[in-house]
Amino acid sequence: MDAFVMEIFSSVQGEGPLVGCRQIFLRFAGCNLDCAYCDTPGDMRPAHCRSQNALDGKDLAFCKNPLNAGQVVAAVERLKPSMHHSISLTGGEPLLQSEFLLEILPLIKDTRLGVYLETNGTLTGQLESVIGMVDFIAMDIKLPGVSGLPPMWEKHRKFLAAAVQKKVFVKVVVGGKTGEEEFIQAVQLVAGIADLPLIIQPVTGSRSMRPEPARLLYLQERALDFLSDVRVIPQVHKMLELL
Ligand code: SF4
Repeated sequence: MDAFVMEIFSSVQGEGPLVGCRQIFLRFAGCNLDCAYCDTPGDMRPAHCRSQNALDGKDLAFCKNPLNAGQVVAAVERLKPSMHHSISLTGGEPLLQSEFLLEILPLIKDTRLGVYLETNGTLTGQLESVIGMVDFIAMDIKLPGVSGLPPMWEKHRKFLAAAVQKKVFVKVVVGGKTGEEEFIQAVQLVAGIADLPLIIQPVTGSRSMRPEPARLLYLQERALDFLSDVRVIPQVHKMLELL
């Protein structure tokens, strides 16, 4: 089996409670959604995968897509998994490649704490097929007011109910126009499953799209009525101009 891969590189996690942890990122192309703020179009099929050959990031290779499992595992091995917290499966939506993940994950063994899945939280069947090989799940709940997508509450609820057996946290991206009602609906959805960590992530983009700091604090206060661990964390890798 082959997969379209955009990038394979070593960097620090820039979002959520594991911010700052060193990871190997395996960024897959393609997504089943089309969020208004997305910087990786869902139908993108890059001709080449860009991968680091060494940890300093200066030696880059460009491999023709799609890649087979052996090529991906070899590229990951070159980046010394043993010095990394975990391997981050990201995208796009990595669960679109669940059959490919079933091939490669048993072959990537040496990270310190395992496999970290970043997902839009909609593909429950695919999650169930790989969940035995995943250690951390970073799941989005998409708020219609900021993502521009139709509501997906039931899809997210079903996904989170399956994900909760692992170390899971939920992220909601909020913008300047995020309504309190949809935000609280997301918070209550999480609280209805378990008292899980919730990350409020201000949207990255033009100043007019971003929420006011006071608004972020207010939304955090509201969420703390339902959940015990609610954090406001921006995308740190963009501040540091990291990959
Ligand atoms: S889920 Fe992520 S990759 Fe997919 S369209 Fe939305 S922001 Fe982009």
